[in-house]
Amino acid sequence: MLIVPEREIANLMTPEAAFEAVEKVFAAMASKDAYNFPVVREAIGHEDALYGFKGGFDQAGLTLGLKAGGYWPHNLEKRGEINHQSTVFLFDPDTGKAKAMVGGNLLTALRTAAASSVSIKHLARKDVKVLGMIGAGHQATFQLGAALETRAYEKVIGWNYHPDMLSNIEKVAADAGVPFEAVDLPGMKDADVIISITSAFTPSLMADHVSPGTHIACMGTDTKGKQEVEAALLSRATVFTDEVAQSVSIGEAQHAVAAGLIKESDVYQIGAVINGTHAGRASDDEITVFDGTGVGLQDLAVAASVVNLAVEKGVAIEVDF
Ligand code: NAD
Repeated sequence: MLIVPEREIANLMTPEAAFEAVEKVFAAMASKDAYNFPVVREAIGHEDALYGFKGGFDQAGLTLGLKAGGYWPHNLEKRGEINHQSTVFLFDPDTGKAKAMVGGNLLTALRTAAASSVSIKHLARKDVKVLGMIGAGHQATFQLGAALETRAYEKVIGWNYHPDMLSNIEKVAADAGVPFEAVDLPGMKDADVIISITSAFTPSLMADHVSPGTHIACMGTDTKGKQEVEAALLSRATVFTDEVAQSVSIGEAQHAVAAGLIKESDVYQIGAVINGTHAGRASDDEITVFDGTGVGLQDLAVAASVVNLAVEKGVAIEVDF
């Protein structure tokens, strides 16, 4: 069995490799060559932790396994460890034998950023100039970094519930040589693409904060009850997602569906656009939404890719297991 420790991931995995792995597995999901297993997520009654498993099987890429982990809210203050902790386990689909154990913390941020970038590539207008960011936490920095590689933006505009955190994303824009401006929420009307990645339970972005033709990647809502954008925005948009069942139950679409504004059948898999079985954006005035809920197959795809890179570079640890 091979082990790729968390400390090696930053030296091995690139946003480009994550993009390629995620785009491929979204396509495999839409063509039914890959499927996710039901998600387990439990409050374990210890350290206020949420722990669970996300797994799946990709028959096209022959990737089988799961990501185990969750959220330990007191890690940082008590131990100086990050609050999100996860590990990916890969198994040989021919034998069921354990194949690899891979640090999953940085990979989670890279695969989540890759998902919104894939949606921008396939759903945003070709002539986008202004990128809007809602959120300025840990994930937001990765989201912005990856998005700035997908298109040549002239400007980044940003809003965050805690304004003092905006410097986190301002720095990412500066490092990429793109001007940054803090705006209020109505200021998002200037954006051609908006990425929202917050832990909010009430919407910030309202339908009238968004101009026709905008693509919005809603990446923060991954749990029942969370919400980043007004439900009415989804009824004005064409809605795409990684996994329809998750979108309507734990994703941003849960609210629009519960309010009867859209139906489950109004939500399309992004993989269908990648495969060419859905045309994607129909006009320059259409608003498109990508409801990125985060699926286990994304984790397995980037972990499999990182194992190959680790073997190539001779840094995978081999253990007799
Ligand atoms: P973080 O704690 O580093 O940042 C949280 C962000 O949310 C900050 O910008 C904060 O200002 C903002 N925020 C907090 N309360 C808010 C409120 N009431 N209204 C508006 N904004 C508010 O967290 P993170 O690691 O960046 O994660 C952000 C979100 O992304 C979380 O909800 C997390 O579960 C989710 N996430 C989703 C995926 C996926 O695949 N879709 C993957 C990883 C994380």
